[in-house]
Amino acid sequence: MAGNIAILGSTGSIGVQTLEVARNLGISVSALTANSNIDLIEKQAKEFKPQLISVGDSTLAFELNQRLKKMNIEVHYGLEGLKAAASIAAADTVVTSIVGVAGLIPTIEAIRHGKNIALANKETLVTAGSIVVSEAAAHGISIFPVDSEHAAIYQCLAANRRQDVERLILTASGGPFRGKTPEELEKVTVAQALKHPNWNMGSKITIDSATLMNKGLEVIEARWLFDFTPDRIKVVVHPQSIIHSMVEYVDGSVIAQLGSHDMRIPIQLALTWPDRVLNSFSRLDLLKCGSLTFEEPDMESFPCLALAFEALKADGTMPAVMNGANEAAVELFLKGKIGFCDIPRLISRAMQVHSVNIKPGLDDIIEVDGWARKMVGGLL
Ligand code: NDP
Ligand code: MG
Repeated sequence: MAGNIAILGSTGSIGVQTLEVARNLGISVSALTANSNIDLIEKQAKEFKPQLISVGDSTLAFELNQRLKKMNIEVHYGLEGLKAAASIAAADTVVTSIVGVAGLIPTIEAIRHGKNIALANKETLVTAGSIVVSEAAAHGISIFPVDSEHAAIYQCLAANRRQDVERLILTASGGPFRGKTPEELEKVTVAQALKHPNWNMGSKITIDSATLMNKGLEVIEARWLFDFTPDRIKVVVHPQSIIHSMVEYVDGSVIAQLGSHDMRIPIQLALTWPDRVLNSFSRLDLLKCGSLTFEEPDMESFPCLALAFEALKADGTMPAVMNGANEAAVELFLKGKIGFCDIPRLISRAMQVHSVNIKPGLDDIIEVDGWARKMVGGLL
């Protein structure tokens, strides 16, 4: 069980719930980071008394330093601040709950300092899976997934032999627009896309859930976490999100993990595994959850899922290009500058133009990420 944690992105949806878990379990917190929400990180710092906090820039850090003057807390900022938080000596585990590729370098920093990783930031594995997995192996650390589907698969794989696995089955809710035609999707609004039927999450992942890119990112995340080729990872739409994912074995047995829609459960497991600890989080009541249904994903209405499989097959820098283009397109959509269906169009265009570097280093990943963003922003 984790004894002391650093949380990268403590002011987000996962970060706040991680602090709730830490509070319940009595886990110490040595570092916290935010980008711009200094009011919330100030409050968190006053309660959890970390050694170090970090925010997006020097102006915010100066303001926060003033507010926390009486406390013995180092206030850092920018990438160096994130690295300081990721490598803080007191922490045995780093929870990576920054959104987007901004989480990549700090996660690598944590791994290089021998920290176990409770990984929420899926973009890290999507963009640089091969590098992250080999760094983790070289430093002998474990990466435990916070993402509910991957936490489910982790549990379904436990106590079974991996050579007996036929395939991984990731469940997807289908998002708020399940059943809509491509024509209907042209007209959907930002407000509608931000209304996820089952989960309450940050805005970027909520839009990713509406386009099904979230499931695409999760397929790539699963490829690196569990080392299965794309043809052995299947996606099934399960609108109730009660089964979080499954593993099918060669003898026809399918093992599933079920639970209520409460991210605190996988967050806690990532911090306690292999222990299971009693908590007061919401419980699944099978008698009240109704019928469980399953459908094929509709890749015509939701091309982002197909694009993710394509990027995974192309390998090398392609998933990073897809991810960078997606992050830029989602930002434009949230600002009302493009329509919902422009998201896959822009990603697809960036992927078509990109020529893959099959064995990229970290610098290559950062470079193609920037390139894809510019491409989507119309700057190239
Ligand atoms: P949020 O948007 O709620 O939170 C993001 C966090 O990252 C905030 O602390 C934010 O700070 C910080 N942040 C944002 N941009 C930057 C940046 N450029 N540099 C440094 N810090 C930054 O996201 P979620 O908590 O929803 O998601 C976090 C990650 O976890 C994502 O990768 C997501 O895919 C994954 N995930 C989330 C789930 C969920 O239920 N929310 C479920 C499964 C996975 P500030 O508040 O100051 O802006
Ligand atoms: Mg998920």
